[in-house]
Amino acid sequence: MTRYANYIDGEWLDGPTFSRNVNPSDVDDVVGEYSQADVQQTARAIQAARKAFASWSLSTPQQRFDVLDRAGTAILARKEELGRLLAREEGKTLPEAIGEAGRAGQIFKFFAGEALRLGGEIVQSVRPGMTVEVTREPLGVIGMITPWNFPIAIPAWKIAPALAYGNCVVIKPADLVPGSAWELVKIIAEAGAPAGVINLVMGRGSVIGEALVNSPDVDAISFTGSVSTGRSIAAKCVETGKKVQLEMGGKNPMVVLDDADLDVAVEACVNGAFFSTGQRCTASSRLIVTEGIHDRFVEAVKARLKTLKIGDALAPDTQIGPVVDERQLAQDERYIAIAREEGGTVFGGERVAASTNGFFLAPALITDTTPTMRINREEVFGPVASVIKVKDYEAALATANDTEFGLSAGICTTSLKYATHFKRHAQVGMVMVNTATAGVDYHVPFGGRKGSSYGAREQGSYAREFYTTVKTAYVNA
Ligand code: NDP
Repeated sequence: MTRYANYIDGEWLDGPTFSRNVNPSDVDDVVGEYSQADVQQTARAIQAARKAFASWSLSTPQQRFDVLDRAGTAILARKEELGRLLAREEGKTLPEAIGEAGRAGQIFKFFAGEALRLGGEIVQSVRPGMTVEVTREPLGVIGMITPWNFPIAIPAWKIAPALAYGNCVVIKPADLVPGSAWELVKIIAEAGAPAGVINLVMGRGSVIGEALVNSPDVDAISFTGSVSTGRSIAAKCVETGKKVQLEMGGKNPMVVLDDADLDVAVEACVNGAFFSTGQRCTASSRLIVTEGIHDRFVEAVKARLKTLKIGDALAPDTQIGPVVDERQLAQDERYIAIAREEGGTVFGGERVAASTNGFFLAPALITDTTPTMRINREEVFGPVASVIKVKDYEAALATANDTEFGLSAGICTTSLKYATHFKRHAQVGMVMVNTATAGVDYHVPFGGRKGSSYGAREQGSYAREFYTTVKTAYVNA
């Protein structure tokens, strides 16, 4: 069994214990044993990052471009192999996983360019003879805590901008899927990141994550994960004076109006709700359908779901892979049971036997639901979507916004009037017309509002808001 070490100050160091990374498509397949760091190693990684910051923060844009560009090239060249590892440890299908690995490579290429593009402003002073310069500088040491559902893309979209703007990084990936982040960090090290600039400490959030959040030597925390963990991290960051950015859950609405193209709507909803096994914070989990198209839409979605092949993520014909682990499978089934008890009608949602011993669940479509049911208020994070029948567009919009979340929202319509109104009035960070609520570009801002996100947006050039601090200089010349 191959063992994988933590990466601290340019060295690969074993922690005191190891954790087995198990394939959710086949629990008899162990991907590897990954070192669990302890609090002392985490402190060492933070000190290494602090030391490296002195020179990395003053490195030239060309040096940072070169490291990021080489890393991007290596990721893209190895995307099939990295995608295979990702599919094996997380359970998304091979094409989805290869797509995610490719996206990580593109993110590094994009932020290589951003390192060169970081500019400032010269502003005329209100005082005679004075000039004002507004520039951006790196923050320092960034602690990163990432979830299991995008094991390479999320670490990539946090690490690449952090390094591009001259910060140093200590990353703790999700304990369930450390393999992709381990490969990513190795690639960045081999691309020429000096010792201490990037550090990897694997292990539990309650140990390593807490140590990062509580350390006075960490300047900022970038977190993606659940709402409860995110909120507790934010409170601690305020206490210790850290900048913080949280990306959390969603209960994303997809509105389908009477005038929608039925085929487009079914594809957008099935993709948005069930692909990647529904384990996306942007998943279309509430399908809000006007009454004129409701019955036709529901029948068409059911027919489409019957055609989907569920099974081993690595098998070439699989369209829906396994749920990530036993705990998440139990959560998905609990929510299906709750929906049934509350009066919903459940289609699908049963366990599926496959050729391998994995956590396979048939997509569940729950009809006859109302907006107040728990299935329409709480995030499930699995292949489970509910349908809410509404009278008209106005009722659909009100229902879409009736949630504590605000990440992504979609509408399927052929009406320019409704599409335009929805774009303006959906209370979310990302809005989609005639396409799934999930699936975003890598060069534009990602994030939400209300309970879904806190702090500056991620990705695209907006990432600089989080990873830099602004300095205003006055020159009396
Ligand atoms: P968790 O919040 O449990 O975990 C996220 C990360 O936080 C993991 O690395 C975890 O470590 C760590 N963590 C757990 N407890 C602490 C703590 N006390 N202090 C510091 N770190 C801690 O979420 P999941 O990984 O289970 O991911 C699923 C959730 O994430 C869903 O609710 C989903 O909506 C959300 N999500 C949001 C996204 C977005 O962009 N908006 C994207 C992806 C997911 P450990 O390894 O021990 O679990």
